[in-house]
Amino acid sequence: MGLRDRLRKGLSRSRETLSEIFYMGGEVDEDFWEDLEDHLVMDDMGAEVAMRVTDDLREQAAREGLRTARQLRAALAERISHEFAIADRDPFEDLPSCVLFVGINGAGKTTTVGKLAGVARGEGRSCLIGGADTFRAAAIEQLEVWGQRSGVEVVTRERGADPASVCYDVLERAERDSADLVLIDTAGRLHTSPELMRELQKVVRVTRKRATMPVSVVLVIDATTGQNGLAQATEFNEALDLDGLIVTKLDGTAKGGIAVAISHTLGLPIYRIGVGEGIDDLQSFDAAEFSRALVG
Ligand code: GDP
Repeated sequence: MGLRDRLRKGLSRSRETLSEIFYMGGEVDEDFWEDLEDHLVMDDMGAEVAMRVTDDLREQAAREGLRTARQLRAALAERISHEFAIADRDPFEDLPSCVLFVGINGAGKTTTVGKLAGVARGEGRSCLIGGADTFRAAAIEQLEVWGQRSGVEVVTRERGADPASVCYDVLERAERDSADLVLIDTAGRLHTSPELMRELQKVVRVTRKRATMPVSVVLVIDATTGQNGLAQATEFNEALDLDGLIVTKLDGTAKGGIAVAISHTLGLPIYRIGVGEGIDDLQSFDAAEFSRALVG
């Protein structure tokens, strides 16, 4: 199955939810608009976004005389696509670049770093991976497996070492080897905690100070965490002033609305989306395509 199909399959639940209202009776009356708003909330889009999207679509439908399910669906997809924040720079294309990946355990940070290293290698770029998750022994091993798989060297230190020192090492190495893309994996916890945020703030500070290339802080977020994802993203953004997002596990049972809610509410662009566990299962983000997969 191609990556596009995987996204469409992953978002099938969102589409099915919305299909119900588009085919309920065909009448575009007051109930239709209320149902639409409720269904967008159910799809994890958040109350504020759901209300605004519904109101705007309602005005547009009146103005342009949209009545059929097909017309309304197309207009809804288009309207949702405008909710996403737009990236002014792609930290994986505009090189040189150093990217710090943050997020809670299990979000998909290590996997995403591995996938991106694979892409960079495939494009003949000079890439290095920094393993700054020195908290879990397994994290370093897992990252090394990804390093081998992608053919990219991993710079790390022993378990318990200061994560900021790993950032320092990998940047020093990048300078020496003229590497133009540095991907740094950081530690998560099961939940966000003040201790994790302090550690990450230090990692970001040291990295920015040492780097001679632009540094981006990217939150990796698991789309299947639902509404809790917005609370998580808000906490990370407040502590670390994020640059953007990578949303993972969109091939699974995720409700896609959470990606809309986070990107819009925090004004953060989505750089890539994860649609599987393999090295090639990473897609660039296209707001129009994503919205069509969400709505049908
Ligand atoms: P980390 O703790 O944030 O580094 O998360 P990992 O990279 O270890 O990923 C946690 C689990 O999620 C692993 O089993 C990955 O294979 C899986 N995973 C990561 N990204 C995706 C994705 O896009 N789709 C699916 N289905 N699984 C993913």
